[in-house]
Amino acid sequence: MTQPSTPLSKYEAVIGLEIHAQLATKSKLFCGDATDFGAAPNTQISPITMGHPGTLPKTNEQAIEYAIMMGLACGCAIEKNNYFARKNYFYPDLPKGYQISQHTTPICVGGEIKINTSAGEKIISLNRIHLEEDAGKSIHDLSETATMIDLNRAGTPLIELVTEPCLHSAEEAYEFVTEIRKLVRWLGVCDGNMEEGSLRCDANISIRLQGEKKLGTRVEIKNLNSIRNIKKAIEFEIERLIQITETGGTIIQQTRSFDANNDTTFSIRVKEDANDYRYFPDPDLAPFHLTDKSIDDIRIKLPLLPNALKKQWANSFKLSDYDASQLSENKDEASFFIALIKLSTHYKAIANWILGPIRSYMNETHSNYEKVTLALGPIVELIEMVEKNQLNFSVASNKVLKEIIAKPQSPFTYAEHHNLLQSNSSDEIENWVSKVLAMHPDKVAEYKKGKKGLIGLFVGEVKKISQGKADPKLSTQLLEKKLAE
Ligand code: ADP
Ligand code: MG
Repeated sequence: MTQPSTPLSKYEAVIGLEIHAQLATKSKLFCGDATDFGAAPNTQISPITMGHPGTLPKTNEQAIEYAIMMGLACGCAIEKNNYFARKNYFYPDLPKGYQISQHTTPICVGGEIKINTSAGEKIISLNRIHLEEDAGKSIHDLSETATMIDLNRAGTPLIELVTEPCLHSAEEAYEFVTEIRKLVRWLGVCDGNMEEGSLRCDANISIRLQGEKKLGTRVEIKNLNSIRNIKKAIEFEIERLIQITETGGTIIQQTRSFDANNDTTFSIRVKEDANDYRYFPDPDLAPFHLTDKSIDDIRIKLPLLPNALKKQWANSFKLSDYDASQLSENKDEASFFIALIKLSTHYKAIANWILGPIRSYMNETHSNYEKVTLALGPIVELIEMVEKNQLNFSVASNKVLKEIIAKPQSPFTYAEHHNLLQSNSSDEIENWVSKVLAMHPDKVAEYKKGKKGLIGLFVGEVKKISQGKADPKLSTQLLEKKLAE
């Protein structure tokens, strides 16, 4: 069946992303100044950051290690012979008049990232990952007559990750950046906080007719600072480019910005193809060389990556793809899952507990896993009590869980002390069953006339008057028996 030819289906969007990730080092790329977010303006700026003449930069080895970690995690080739170049341009928040970067010689080459889209798994090819320093910040809205400059951020280490022009929709871009954020957080190389500017994205977008191989003229949307904005900006831009083309216009190469108030983009400058930055190797910085051993030492230290864990868990524990992917979303949560499955083989129940009650507990109390991990033993015991029908799930998750995290203690002792243990004594349950049936003579009559679905209501009532203590299986059996009399 052929699709009607709408403007959208006639064109293919082509997208390449450039993502800047601020590395989680304590100090800057070429000096010891701190990199803390939110410090008072211009308090983290030594003469090196300010680019005073006569100062000498020195490379932060931790930054190099982080860049290599990210490269290895993405399957990039690691370049052994590296140097930094000066990219010369004038801008008020660039005190040296040049940015130190690795323009033509990225430390990581190639590589790929797998993403999941509604159309299935897709592989996004990377062009490179390189190291560079950040510029300072120009602040335009503090004064009506002046631009303020805060140089705290100047010299902060960044990796820039550049994809091939191989994404084809806003959804793919959304999934890609989500995956990158997850990965940098997992590796601990960047905190991934987009609202603090730790992760920023430029999106290059063009369109071409379906089947066409040549790339169209691109526009670049700068500094997208949330994953939602990346998606909105690309959606808007694809439509705009198609509109221009459909109405006989010509697309010009442009740099644009996203207006988050209207979900639109606007032009900030027309981009010439070849800016002349006069790159040359920085004479103050020695080239740095890596050996196979130094790269392997980093490879050995890499944690198992989320995708590997997800596959492993889905296979060995028969978890659904969704559950396995949720559990490998966040490293702390994944580590907690790993700790629990070392202590108990109720894998599926453990997964459900983490994704359900434990997540809710964390959200409600703004706790972190450090605190919850202190109650590791009691939590395992609690999960097993529910599995053994010693405690009803809702009592366990709504009541006991809180108590054993607040004050690590045996849930069995706690439940016993507070008279919460589930009863599987037939006598006791029979008592509750009789009470419930006596309370609902009309429902009993209906049941006896054939409305068998009412059993659920009776079981619920038994649960209620027993305060969750009646074992539901046993209650059902006893109810059925009594009702058949
Ligand atoms: P620059 O150095 O000007 O930023 P690059 O060649 O490094 O340009 O490309 C930057 C990004 O733009 C890459 O992610 C690349 O895939 C993407 N890109 C380049 N040309 C196009 C195009 N015609 N359409 C969409 N994306 C493109
Ligand atoms: Mg660019």
